[in-house]
Amino acid sequence: MHFNILTIFPEMFPGTLDKGVVGRALDKKIWSYNTINIRDFAINNYGSVDDEQFGGGAGMVMRPDVLGNAIDSVKKPGKIIFFSPRGKQLNQQLVHEFAKHDTITMICGRYEGIDQRILDVYDIEEISIGDYVLSGGELAAQVFIDTAVRLLDNVLGGGLETTQNESFEIGGLEWPLYTRPSVWRGQSVPEVLLSGHHGNIERWRKQQSDELTKKRRPDLIKEK
Ligand code: SAH
Repeated sequence: MHFNILTIFPEMFPGTLDKGVVGRALDKKIWSYNTINIRDFAINNYGSVDDEQFGGGAGMVMRPDVLGNAIDSVKKPGKIIFFSPRGKQLNQQLVHEFAKHDTITMICGRYEGIDQRILDVYDIEEISIGDYVLSGGELAAQVFIDTAVRLLDNVLGGGLETTQNESFEIGGLEWPLYTRPSVWRGQSVPEVLLSGHHGNIERWRKQQSDELTKKRRPDLIKEK
């Protein structure tokens, strides 16, 4: 899987993405990326990529001529995404859909955002990573890449089972997890987990997961 990342801060990549399972997958070339510095397409020697809003108001907007040329420089863009609080909110189901693409081109906004005509002229999907406002799309891009890459083959140690047993994949939230020591500060691990009885363990986990989901995220149950 390949990502083209359009940004005015290419030095922010790979950022968090060269660590852990996603970093190992980058080393193994299971995924790759390249950055396109939007400033390379600036209209003047000062490197300006933004301008004042028509209609007035605080905050600058990324110019369509600059951004358009930056997008056109990508030879094989594949699916194009713009990160925006106005976009469709990313969830595990959407990540699965995106992870099927060979190539994704992502536009990281800065300032107040980008000129609307870019979104009208190109086939671009707007994606939000949650109901809050970031200062730029670069962190959103890293969140997006991390979630997609861990679904690719040979990225997680435990294979398919690891991804299938996680929150959202199981139609709710994950059950409580325990490891050694079996007693810590007087707190014991639930007996059933030490029993070796797979059927009982599975039932216990399902019941814990259902309870937690009902309490914290009833919306996930209705979606099922
Ligand atoms: N004026 C915009 C916010 C601009 S924040 C508004 O009110 O909707 C600057 C940039 O950060 C955005 O263009 C976008 O690329 C990125 N960004 C901010 N919050 C985001 C979020 N929740 N999800 C994805 N990208 C976000």
